[in-house]
Amino acid sequence: MRMIDIITKKRDGGILSEKEIQFFIKGYVDGVIPDYQVSALLMAIIFKGMNKEETAILTREMMLSGDVIDLSGIEGIKVDKHSTGGVGDKTSLVLGPLVASFGVKVAKMSGRGLGHTGGTIDKLESIPGTQTSIAKQAFIDQVNHVGCAIIGQTGSIVPADKKLYSLRDVTGTVESIPLIAASIMSKKLAAGSNTILLDVKFGSGAFMKTLDDARLLAKTMVEIGSHLGRDTRAILTDMDQPLGLAVGNSLEVIEAIHTLHGHGPSDFVELCTQAAAIMLEQAHVVKHSQDALPLIDAKIKTGEAFNVFKAMIKAQGGDTRVLDNPDLFAKSSHVIEIRSEKAGFVKHINSLEIGVGAMKLGAGRQTKEDVIDMSSGVILKKKVGDEVKVGDLLCVAYTNKKEAEYREVLIQLHDAFELSATKIKVAPIIHDYIR
Ligand code: URA
Repeated sequence: MRMIDIITKKRDGGILSEKEIQFFIKGYVDGVIPDYQVSALLMAIIFKGMNKEETAILTREMMLSGDVIDLSGIEGIKVDKHSTGGVGDKTSLVLGPLVASFGVKVAKMSGRGLGHTGGTIDKLESIPGTQTSIAKQAFIDQVNHVGCAIIGQTGSIVPADKKLYSLRDVTGTVESIPLIAASIMSKKLAAGSNTILLDVKFGSGAFMKTLDDARLLAKTMVEIGSHLGRDTRAILTDMDQPLGLAVGNSLEVIEAIHTLHGHGPSDFVELCTQAAAIMLEQAHVVKHSQDALPLIDAKIKTGEAFNVFKAMIKAQGGDTRVLDNPDLFAKSSHVIEIRSEKAGFVKHINSLEIGVGAMKLGAGRQTKEDVIDMSSGVILKKKVGDEVKVGDLLCVAYTNKKEAEYREVLIQLHDAFELSATKIKVAPIIHDYIR
């Protein structure tokens, strides 16, 4: 078999066979097929797509390119969730402990920030001392004892995705439904949980810009997961404005703490509550997800969900004093208020601009080598639907950069708020549920 024949077949709209997909994944991981040939194939996939069967085979071959985690040492049903990435998305920090407070086991592997989107692992590491790289047995022991562990993906899981993702990132081949579906699902399937809830985001801050594309991606992933024997479901959620109010690592951890105490922003609370309810149905804690809502409320009110979060951070070596007193988190040297020059109602907050702005303030990496400034980021003071008067606070920027470095960002953040002269009807955060 020759890689050139596989490339031209896909370029001309052909359907790749199981053997051809196996050949290209194995050859690439083994270093036999060079980046330039794989880039050409990826670009052909961008234009010609892949059918369901090709996507399922690609997912399975990527999953089998490395270790498949055996979680049988953890008792009971293991649940997992995954977000396709957004701005201000600190959901795992709340959902993991909340679901675990019901006795359900959450053994979660998460990622770092990618481009303008934040990553759960970076957020966790903003809590001083927190370790996100844990040996397999310690990870299993922690889930058995605490109920929840969130760690970074180990080097041996889906090496094919590591290589492919870095290549896609620099060759304009990220935005393809089969490639995204295979990338996400290969990792979720290799991570070993019994159930998977996918939070597929759409809108300005997401990879999928439209609801229709997000729905297609969600259906593709649900089909792959179900086909491989996992209870896989998806919710389609709005990323047309950042989630909650906080964007940036320790700022988001503080918002997660407030949410676990019952004081979170309404869109974030709604997402966490509904997602937790579905995960509890998947784990057979309740028959219908809606039955879980009062129980979830109680777990927050009694402090049980927060206590699991604290126990998880303690088990991972973190300093839990900052969880009890978030004022102890390191502070940015510059706190800059951004006020509106116009009046109206907030129609849209461009999440991409807020995410890129937060990254430039220090909250994300512009290059792989960049070191994140954990205290920097943005706190929104207005959300879609809110009325704004001239001079009202739109958001607050936190940074340790010099004024010359952040001056332009302030304009970017201001302009991310689009106002309308008339009142705006606010759409619900969850647009659809696919199972
Ligand atoms: N997240 C992933 O893990 N992979 C993609 O391709 C896109 C988002």
